[in-house]
Amino acid sequence: MNAGGKEVVFEGLGVSPGIAVGPAHLSEAGMPTVPEYAIRKSAVGAENERLKTAVERSGRQLRRLRDRARSVHGASGEDLGNLLDAYLQMLTGSRLMRGVERRITEQRINAEAAVQAEISDIAHSFEDLPDPYMAARADDVREAGARLIRNLTKAPFRGFSSLPQGSVVLAEEFSPADAALMDPRQVAGFATVLGGPEGHTAIMARSLGIPAVLGATGLTTGARDAGSVIIDGISGLVIVNPTPATLREYDKRREALRRERRRFARLRDLPAITRDETEITLSANVELPQETNQAMRHGAMGIGLLRSEFMFMNRDTPPSEEEQLEALSTIVRGMAGRPVTIRTLDVGGEKLAYSFGDQLIDTVNPALGLRAIRFSLKHPKLLEDQISAILRVGALGPVRILLPMIATTGEIRRVREVIDVVARRLKRRRVPIADPLPPLGVMIEVPGAALAADALARVSDFFAIGTNDLTMYTLAIDRADEQVAHLYNPLHPAVLRLIQFTAEAALRARIPFSVCGEIAGDPRYTALLLGLGVRDLSMAAGSLPRVKQRVRSLELTAATVRAQAIMEQADTGRIATLLDDFNGLA
Ligand code: PEP
Ligand code: MG
Repeated sequence: MNAGGKEVVFEGLGVSPGIAVGPAHLSEAGMPTVPEYAIRKSAVGAENERLKTAVERSGRQLRRLRDRARSVHGASGEDLGNLLDAYLQMLTGSRLMRGVERRITEQRINAEAAVQAEISDIAHSFEDLPDPYMAARADDVREAGARLIRNLTKAPFRGFSSLPQGSVVLAEEFSPADAALMDPRQVAGFATVLGGPEGHTAIMARSLGIPAVLGATGLTTGARDAGSVIIDGISGLVIVNPTPATLREYDKRREALRRERRRFARLRDLPAITRDETEITLSANVELPQETNQAMRHGAMGIGLLRSEFMFMNRDTPPSEEEQLEALSTIVRGMAGRPVTIRTLDVGGEKLAYSFGDQLIDTVNPALGLRAIRFSLKHPKLLEDQISAILRVGALGPVRILLPMIATTGEIRRVREVIDVVARRLKRRRVPIADPLPPLGVMIEVPGAALAADALARVSDFFAIGTNDLTMYTLAIDRADEQVAHLYNPLHPAVLRLIQFTAEAALRARIPFSVCGEIAGDPRYTALLLGLGVRDLSMAAGSLPRVKQRVRSLELTAATVRAQAIMEQADTGRIATLLDDFNGLA
């Protein structure tokens, strides 16, 4: 299997545990297909604007890649950085850009076609030069142009279905929508240069159970001649062209994982109960309808977080109410009477859904912009359709409505009004809906919401604490940026205090609350969360057995005492030591 060349190891972040071995497929190489059409004179300005947006986006990508490359010491990092700098310069005020703008304005053709024609001209003029260094620059022009075209066409809906079964895909970056298209039978594993451990691409990989490594610097350039590749999603390694000895070692590790899985399967029907007999509710987070089976197979007591974004990804227009109803019905029926918590649309941030065109891409700071509930309230028809589909699916089984990124009580009141209006309309038309109306809960994932939890508890039926965003916004650290991944830490005392504050407010108001961020699925945190009063955890289905095992090994009284000791600490390192010591790791 070591046909492609020398073994090379790339280090990154293991974001989805498991090991994959398979033929390498380098994604995104080459020029995307370019649509060509004439534009009216009046559309020239808009076309140039579109070009500008794509240039800015390409610039952002290149700057991130360049900084990432330069963080690698030595000549190769520096060389790659210089090359990316050269691409960046081509995108700003260069001959390429002037030529493209001229073509759009004078020839009245679309931006993609103008970029294509200009690249071809410039590349040919370089190729004709006698100096081999200059001639080689033709490839750079093509590379920079291809990126620009990809950003103009937005290269949506990447297809993985034509790959040989069991392929391992390597790419610069995958969006959550790209990952949603991966069929675990087709894609055995994937690795990228960009992306952090708590971003939605990582979450999607965990949901699909596809081993993945993100943030592997130099991967796409260094793995060009890859034959086969190992993705080690546990240690965060990508091993290109593994030697026979490495392959034998990984065969052994894979066998050990299979044995562990068989052991976990036996836990499915055992209760999630601590040694001192407190029952804990363990539910599943679901990103895609096909995961419902997995949730049931791992013994989930319900769906604690259904991220409804999947219905809006990889399509040109938002789904109709009927389409949403159909997708939700499959899930509610699949859960056979166990409660399903459906979160309304949470787009924005890194979760771009192409069905909304440029509205989401063009915000100055997407994480602080028109995201989640703000977007839904700005688009009443969208919210009404979604609420209507949820109320209707509530006639088939128990559902709850969950609102993302809530910051104020006013937002909750406005949604309640929408629910009332939609419910009255459906009743008038004699359409069956949930009766009584589903509970309305809110994500606590904005620090301000956690601090105002007592006020929010008065107008909410339940809380779901989203520690992914809560950590990001509290510490001002982008959860999807591999460059700051080492600083992202839910054990920071500020984050823990916000969780504790929220839990206490919910307990005082006697409303149920859960934790559904990624820490809920990591057994390292189970004792601490239970010690803080959490009795309900929702996580990727694949994490359920491990967390159940931890719950069953815990003494809740001891965990509570340790949590109190942890809450007295101000130092993150000390907190980690106290927790690991309790977990038997220190
Ligand atoms: C969270 O922010 O913790 C959360 C569960 O929501 P998402 O990961 O979808 O943003
Ligand atoms: Mg969130």
